[in-house]
Amino acid sequence: SLGYINGRFVSLEELVLPIEERGHQFGDGVYEFFRVYEGNPFMLEEHLDRLYRSADLIRIDIAPDRDELRAIMDELISRSGLANGDIYLQVTRGMAPRNHAFPSVPSSLTMTIKPWRELAPAVREQGVQVLLHPDERWLNCHIKSLNLLPNLLAKQAAVEEGCFEAVLVRDGFVTEGSSSNAYLVKDGAIRTHPATNHILGGIARIAVRRIAEEQGIPFLEEAFGPEELLAADEAFLTSSGIELVPIAGVHGRGAIGSGRPGPVARAIHARYAELTRQR
Ligand code: PLP
Repeated sequence: SLGYINGRFVSLEELVLPIEERGHQFGDGVYEFFRVYEGNPFMLEEHLDRLYRSADLIRIDIAPDRDELRAIMDELISRSGLANGDIYLQVTRGMAPRNHAFPSVPSSLTMTIKPWRELAPAVREQGVQVLLHPDERWLNCHIKSLNLLPNLLAKQAAVEEGCFEAVLVRDGFVTEGSSSNAYLVKDGAIRTHPATNHILGGIARIAVRRIAEEQGIPFLEEAFGPEELLAADEAFLTSSGIELVPIAGVHGRGAIGSGRPGPVARAIHARYAELTRQR
């Protein structure tokens, strides 16, 4: 594992931030999380697009430009010696005496690389239970902001019920998971919430859409409710960290489809796994 902060490579244990840092005090920043497969960050350009877009939307200027950022990342990967790793990247509005209004200081960039956080094989082989939970987030969920408290509370509620993920419901519609996008499969078509301000447009979601198109599986961006989820043939979650995980059932409500991972989820994930290796 290895860390990076504003031009320096550091161990993860090193104390590097002053107390008055806006990510720490306000969650005033944005982040990305992506996986490195055999030295290559998967869908790096899409992650960088989202990073710079998120930062723009909250008016943070990321000091390194894209080329510089790619170079820093390459160096982080090579110095870490990890061919396969998870990179967490965070940009905050910087270090300044605590005050809500924006300071005139440079933004701050930190990164970590760690070995993959592996899923138990049973998760993908058997599918998972999810907990339906109210979506209590703000109206800018398309920004990958550091403010994750509603997501954490929902995830913790799910974990305490023995579930893998909380599936969030806003105004009668499933938006997404607490840290994943959510999909159902009905009559051979994949359905997921449109990429509006109510969800984070996942990069794994982009990969799933491309794979579906390639395989001739309809990919419908139409929101669905909990009843439609329960009546689906299959359902699954995606994120850069978990790739694709089938949903076997909804806590307290019953199984989805056969209660086992379905053929569409399996086919999409098989291709996803191939793409991560094929570069
Ligand atoms: N939705 C939320 C709220 C997330 O936090 C995440 C990832 O952490 C995702 C969706 C999936 O995004 P990605 O596929 O880019 O990892």
